[in-house]
Amino acid sequence: MSDNGSTTPDPNATPENEVEIHDVVVIGSGPAGMSAALYAARANLDTVVLVGPQLGGQVAITWELDNYLGFHEDLTGPEFVEHMAKHVQKFGAELRYDMATAVNFDPDGGLHSISTYGGEIQARSVIVSAGASSRKLGVPGEEGFTGKGVSYCATCDGAFFKDHDVVVVGGGDSAMEEAIFLTRFAKSVKVVHRREELRAGPMLQERAFTNDKIEFVWNTVIDEIKGNGKVDHVTTRRTDNGEEGRLDVTGVFIFIGHFPNSDAYKGVLDMDEHGYVIIDGHMRTSIPGVFACGEIADPVWRQVATSVGQGAQAGIAVEEYLAEMDAQASPAAAAAVEATA
Ligand code: NAP
Repeated sequence: MSDNGSTTPDPNATPENEVEIHDVVVIGSGPAGMSAALYAARANLDTVVLVGPQLGGQVAITWELDNYLGFHEDLTGPEFVEHMAKHVQKFGAELRYDMATAVNFDPDGGLHSISTYGGEIQARSVIVSAGASSRKLGVPGEEGFTGKGVSYCATCDGAFFKDHDVVVVGGGDSAMEEAIFLTRFAKSVKVVHRREELRAGPMLQERAFTNDKIEFVWNTVIDEIKGNGKVDHVTTRRTDNGEEGRLDVTGVFIFIGHFPNSDAYKGVLDMDEHGYVIIDGHMRTSIPGVFACGEIADPVWRQVATSVGQGAQAGIAVEEYLAEMDAQASPAAAAAVEATA
């Protein structure tokens, strides 16, 4: 019986024990994956997006998006995610709240299998856009106090630190953006950076330097995060003269870069020494029919705008790949493709 109580079989349902097959399965729902899904679905391909742990990926936990062309008014990460979801659904892509647990890609470009919590699915083509995750400091106390004072997301946790003293670790764009955001809540924000020069762009630097609540602790690293049940201080060490110190803080926000979420593809797809999936100019990986885009394949640009661009390229590349596969399989289709070329 179907969900609505009718005994009429749903013509679209996959019969029991039969593996569902899609034109395109997109693994990950960040800006790259969603953009790829938009192009694929709009090309009338049957497209499923495996959403992964967080709809929208990292941008979902970004407070403000002020460098995405065309959105010059205040736009929060969650608002942007809502726009993306509505847009891909408008063109018929399915957002499936599930994730890939294992993959079995056909090296000869046949059907690719993806295991998910909901069962196995197969795809004629796959777009891997599983993104990247925050790097850890790797100091004692970091793991134990995660969620008890240690955080990798000011947007998610900042409000818990109203009138508290907190530290931000890192000197890049993320650290500056999040430090500025934290000043909405925290009494003071100390930015601990291992050098005496920031990596962040000049505009964010300027905003951080002119914010009264932000203080910089240069040439310093955190050695240990300490507390009793929750964080109450960190021990520090200067990188220039080794001098040890202590900062009394209840929050430690760590923004020291990212690593690609590519463990599941090790030994399957070609990667560089840092685990970024290697792609060519058409977003093709080392396996025919498997494409990659966004931060899992991008150690350099890592912007919403660049991920959206790479996703669009992957969506178009998939469309071309499948058209070619169809053409090879059917002489009539080949003639049609040739006629439009
Ligand atoms: P990032 O640019 O790689 O910066 C990481 C920062 O963490 C650096 O300052 C680095 O120090 C420091 N660091 C790394 N490992 C460390 C360790 N073990 N201990 C202490 N400090 C450590 O990372 P990000 O800030 O996350 O930015 C990533 C990319 O996203 C960049 O391309 C950035 O432009 C982009 N992004 C853009 C925006 C925006 O445009 N609004 C916002 C966020 C991110 P060193 O400087 O000494 O190497």
